[in-house]
Amino acid sequence: MSTAIYSHPDCQRHEMGSWHPECPARLQAIADQLINAHIDDLLQHREAPLANVEDIARNHSANAISIVRDNLPAAGDYYPIDGDTSLNPHSWQAALRAAGAAVAATNAVIDGEIANAFCAVRPPGHHARPTEPMGFCMFNNVAIAAKYALEVRGLARVAVVDFDVHHGNGTEEALLKEPRALMVSFFQHPFYPYCEVLPDTPNRVNVPVPAGAKGDLVRQLVLDKWLPALHAFKPEMIFISAGFDAHREDELGGMGLVEADYAWMTEQVMNVARQYAQGRIVSCLEGGYNLSALGRSVVAHVKALAEI
Ligand SMILES: [Zn+2]
Repeated sequence: MSTAIYSHPDCQRHEMGSWHPECPARLQAIADQLINAHIDDLLQHREAPLANVEDIARNHSANAISIVRDNLPAAGDYYPIDGDTSLNPHSWQAALRAAGAAVAATNAVIDGEIANAFCAVRPPGHHARPTEPMGFCMFNNVAIAAKYALEVRGLARVAVVDFDVHHGNGTEEALLKEPRALMVSFFQHPFYPYCEVLPDTPNRVNVPVPAGAKGDLVRQLVLDKWLPALHAFKPEMIFISAGFDAHREDELGGMGLVEADYAWMTEQVMNVARQYAQGRIVSCLEGGYNLSALGRSVVAHVKALAEI
């Protein structure tokens, strides 16, 4: 069975201004590097479908959905949501593709059509709160897919692994009262989104790390904090919030990871998935703003997922 890449041209039509780091060129950079690394034709390319609003509504309020759907501006214009998040005329369509990719990949993995999947989509999702979009994110693609796996596909337990440099506050909030979901993450702290670091529980492992942290520290924290929690929880499926802005070349983040660290973390998650989850992993793109580092890091991540 192969690894699938889900994407759609609509995901490149959403943009928030020529100055904005969360830009359409990110997906082009990923596509280019997959070709450059000679792994593109070893992957199964699948078109991201539009999400059903019903699936989004499992995680987001009617008002949160309305903010994105009902404020689309005229061509050439933007509708501001927060200081660095806005809609263009294509944002609703792109957001539906991004969430749709996560749900479709979840179905395909559970149905055994593919081994695992990487969703090369934007807008990203992990800051999107149940009640409002924020921080470059419209809908929380990973939380929507995790809830779909639990509610619709009937899995008993799922885990979310978040290695973006920023705290996945939206995902944490979405899963706060969900005992069937474990979220493990590390994030630069203190840093955006400047929310309180909630204490660890059997369903939540928050690992704040200082600016400047490199792979050796992060790998040790993964061994000490993430893996015991994942083994204790025994997830039947794992979702990855795959942000690559903790890379040392990324100017939005202040950490020092390199491609080999992303490959290593992915291998650790693969080991857990093999043990408890029949290998089921759906990974969704979150941050990562240095185009070259992003593309190279996704190659490392996808090579580990595809075992090539
Ligand atoms: Zn980020």
